[in-house]
Amino acid sequence: MEKVNRILLGNSNVYLIRGEKGYLLIDAGFPNTVKTLLNALGKKSINLQDIILIVITHVHYDHVGNLKEIKDFTGAKIIVSSNEYELLKKGIISIPKGTNISGKLISYLGNLFPKVISYPPVEADIRISETYSLRDFGFNASIIPTPGHTEGSLSVVFDSGEAFVGDTCFNILPINKSTVFPPFANDIPLLLKSWKLLLDTKVQELFPGHGKPFDRDKLQKSYIKLKEKII
Ligand SMILES: [Zn+2]
Repeated sequence: MEKVNRILLGNSNVYLIRGEKGYLLIDAGFPNTVKTLLNALGKKSINLQDIILIVITHVHYDHVGNLKEIKDFTGAKIIVSSNEYELLKKGIISIPKGTNISGKLISYLGNLFPKVISYPPVEADIRISETYSLRDFGFNASIIPTPGHTEGSLSVVFDSGEAFVGDTCFNILPINKSTVFPPFANDIPLLLKSWKLLLDTKVQELFPGHGKPFDRDKLQKSYIKLKEKII
């Protein structure tokens, strides 16, 4: 795989990867940050129109905020989980339950004020509910459903060992609290299963929705920790 371009849009990462036919964009960032994206692309001499495909890891406003604008400008095909297709079409989200006190509070407040976290609705082109190959688009990669953070969370796994996991893993805690457990999750046992699914691939490097890339070893350790906690 070619070099991964990580671009921070608001508080969330988007990733841009070049394939044989054009670029794949993973997620669309925090709302109203298209300018930041354009600046970053300009520095790398990439045109927005070179994006041919957008995979949405999950339908949260900090991952789909600029999706409509980018879609209108590029005409790129959009892939989303069939579980979250309707949410995206309506421009709404359901906030997962928090996994810690601050996460629980944010989840509670967010569900009280759903309009605050709405975004421009988008109709996706492709909905998936099982493993889906991206070879036809020119990428040696597959999308695999990795639910847990949300019902329809997806990960993009490249044959060369890179995985783009959205909020299935967070890498924002200090090193001494070394876990990639997200602050929000709908279903923790399901999240654990999804981590196992990722570990069952040849993944070596993981690229989260929040924080810096991390290695397989960190996921493995987080998996063992979480498993001990919930069994
Ligand atoms: Zn997020």
